[in-house]
Amino acid sequence: MKINVPKSVDWIINRLEEKGYEAYAVGGCVRDSVMGKEPHDWDICTSALPDETLSVLGMENIIENGIKHGTVTIRVDGENYEITTFRTDGEYTDNRHPESVTFVRDLREDLSRRDFTVNALAYNKQRGLQDYFQGVGDIENKVIRCVGSPDRRFGEDALRILRALRFSSVLGFDIEKRTAKSIHKNAYLLKNISKERIMSELIKILQGENVEAVLLGYPDVIAEIVPEIKPMIGFEQHNPHHVYDVWTHTVKVVSGIRAEKKLRLAALFHDIGKPAKFTVDENGTGHFHGHPELSADIAEVVLRRLKSDNKTISDVCKLIRLHDIRPFVRKSIRRLMAKSGMELFPELLELKRADAKAQNESYIKETLEYIDFLETMYYKEREENNDFTLKMLKINGQDLKDIGIKNGREIGYCLNQLLMKVIDEEIENKKENLLEYAEKMDKNICKS
Ligand code: ATP
Ligand code: MG
Repeated sequence: MKINVPKSVDWIINRLEEKGYEAYAVGGCVRDSVMGKEPHDWDICTSALPDETLSVLGMENIIENGIKHGTVTIRVDGENYEITTFRTDGEYTDNRHPESVTFVRDLREDLSRRDFTVNALAYNKQRGLQDYFQGVGDIENKVIRCVGSPDRRFGEDALRILRALRFSSVLGFDIEKRTAKSIHKNAYLLKNISKERIMSELIKILQGENVEAVLLGYPDVIAEIVPEIKPMIGFEQHNPHHVYDVWTHTVKVVSGIRAEKKLRLAALFHDIGKPAKFTVDENGTGHFHGHPELSADIAEVVLRRLKSDNKTISDVCKLIRLHDIRPFVRKSIRRLMAKSGMELFPELLELKRADAKAQNESYIKETLEYIDFLETMYYKEREENNDFTLKMLKINGQDLKDIGIKNGREIGYCLNQLLMKVIDEEIENKKENLLEYAEKMDKNICKS
């Protein structure tokens, strides 16, 4: 099998090989190349010790020198490449870090410490593809399989559990039976893994094409990293609009929505508050009043704990909070746009669409037509440059000062009241109308 290696990678490998060392492209880049996909970065491994690598490649190209960890980063033609000395890991005592690493001269030993057979592949032009663990066969059969004993490998580093789910989701591969069994058995070890690393894998799992099978097959693993999802699993809704339990519905919304971080997160958490809000009416029908607010509150707690950034938290929670509001008249539709913000509104519609598609088929057509109507209303407002923020008002704070409203709080209050009146079309958005209304407005309310 021939793999197209970028020129710079070839250059690095050749320099090391000329000096009598072995060097290979290794890991994900080889896996992706075998699959016919363009790798997003190229890692290199070599038998040269870190200081040997440094002396062969010339100090001028080195940008980072992690000699102790056996990794040297070098810059060639504007790209960075990590070159790692063949190594074996020592004992793992905390399910995440080896106590020590030992440099070795044998490629096979280096490949044997890698997580999955499909990632334990190395390639160079001279010696071709190096596949000691039948990784190519597993790629052909679309299988994720641990290198060696799954229990031992997940015990060494529990993050590999999430990596297995991630590769299954992103590559569309099944997880081999023994590996799968071991994942369920060892999922509790994820408690030892840092929140940042968990979040980074979760986001990749959520964005994979095969996410539905992964979330339905491994809810116990997801519940290990987000215990709040546990009540959703198998929770029946007893409602004619729904044909799935809360978790299955959730999974269908996740896989049905565009693979973008905040949308997939919003989908995952949009109904997380449902079990706690469940009530049954006299006809035996289930309801979940107030679930969007509770779901948003829970999502915020979870996302903060997983060290998500503030913008993501704010957007995701807004989408969740607003996902179930169904305005019909122009005034309420404009209010909804004001609440979400014009930027986020199209994404709110995406969440609504995915949510509708994962419900009882008999209602889908009607709901989707309604969402199309909201979209038409949205574009009309966009055409008129209405953004429903204070910026769209034809007056500003200075205009209010000029008519004698000096107090900052009063000015803020007036502008917000005027905006609401404009959104509701109770006042025309014209300077004289706005000023006239502002003068008459009762401002005592902000003095208390
Ligand atoms: P991608 O870069 O597409 O996310 P990748 O397979 O390249 O996937 P990286 O995290 O870049 O993943 O790791 C590079 C290689 O290092 C892997 O292919 C694998 O061989 C090895 N590796 C990475 N993380 C681990 C781990 N936790 N345990 C064992 N081997 C690992
Ligand atoms: Mg990689």
